[in-house]
Amino acid sequence: MREYKIAVIRGDGIGPEIVDEALKVLNAAGKRFGFELNLDFCLLGGCAIDEAGVPLPQSTVDTCKKAKSVLLGAVGGSKWESLPGNLRPEAGLLGIRSALGLYANLRPARIFEPLKSASPIKESVIGRGLDIMVVRELTGGIYFGERGRLIKNGSPAAYDTECYSVDEIRRIARVAFELAKKRHSRLCSVDKANVLESSRLWRETVIEMSRDYPNVELSHMYVDNCAMQLVRNPAQFDVIVTSNIFGDILSDEASMISGSIGMLASASLGEGSFGLYEPIHGSAPDIAGKGISNPLATILSAAMMLRFSLGEPEAAQAIEAAVNTTLERLRTPDIWEPGFEKVGTDKMGDAVSKMI
Ligand code: NAD
Repeated sequence: MREYKIAVIRGDGIGPEIVDEALKVLNAAGKRFGFELNLDFCLLGGCAIDEAGVPLPQSTVDTCKKAKSVLLGAVGGSKWESLPGNLRPEAGLLGIRSALGLYANLRPARIFEPLKSASPIKESVIGRGLDIMVVRELTGGIYFGERGRLIKNGSPAAYDTECYSVDEIRRIARVAFELAKKRHSRLCSVDKANVLESSRLWRETVIEMSRDYPNVELSHMYVDNCAMQLVRNPAQFDVIVTSNIFGDILSDEASMISGSIGMLASASLGEGSFGLYEPIHGSAPDIAGKGISNPLATILSAAMMLRFSLGEPEAAQAIEAAVNTTLERLRTPDIWEPGFEKVGTDKMGDAVSKMI
């Protein structure tokens, strides 16, 4: 029996309830595909502040570093909102990503067939389905560049700097090429090379790297055009790779094509196969404890963990297929439509597990 050590951060708000459903589904997948999870629970965010006085205790970093990957629910809530910025739950999130060296953010934007009508894009545009993976560089670029205030022509001014090294571009491009190789072998690199010098270096470097991947079809697109193409003809994309700031904006745009925040998974990857997996939504304090949150984003994040960190692609696929089939019958309130049975968090988790 294969065994994997996983750090589990349930977090705040709906975090614990959605993570519990994802663990249920992972266990069901383990039974079917012959692996076992060795879970190490740790604290992050508001619950860590309550227990340990800081949003990211060192013991959490240590536990995560010893694991093969991390599964995270969500953190935050009004109880901690009056704390200073560096002591708020969200500081724990930024801290853990940086402590674990996670530089690649993967956000799939896909449409599950039964949820097509929830997409803001017309069915005629979505076509036979949609499955895009946006790969965003996470630790460089303008969000981490030099910034400051000055006086420009007598008027107060501010600046931020976009700076990428060849090494930073290479490592994110490698993640994207490898992903494209395992998917439909199409990679679109998005930049603003007609204006920005950093984008010209980005493009040169990606082109140079493409020699290592002769079977991946590489294309380039300016970011403004990409923003338009994502709604005009999203099915043209397979994998998109881009910088931190462009990826921030485009991944939100792409993910909304799938319709509901409760469905959106994500992975943040570092060196090797290590990764942190979490839904993109927050801790939803407005519905926490009511048993009505949608656990599917976390369940799909767990599927990504199986695929990218644990080398269990068949189990990942089985979970995604089980989600698709379950959606044909059952819906949590956030995605409910007439004609479907309305269920709570645990019933949804049970149904996906049973399907596996
Ligand atoms: P949110 O994503 O928590 O909620 C936005 C809306 O979506 C709410 O109406 C909520 O009920 C709904 N929603 C979210 N997830 C859902 C799910 N799984 N099922 C059904 N409905 C769902 O965003 P917010 O309200 O802006 O933030 C709430 C707290 O979460 C804040 O403290 C914020 O800082 C934090 N937050 C954390 C993360 C994270 O942990 N990665 C991300 C975003 C926000």
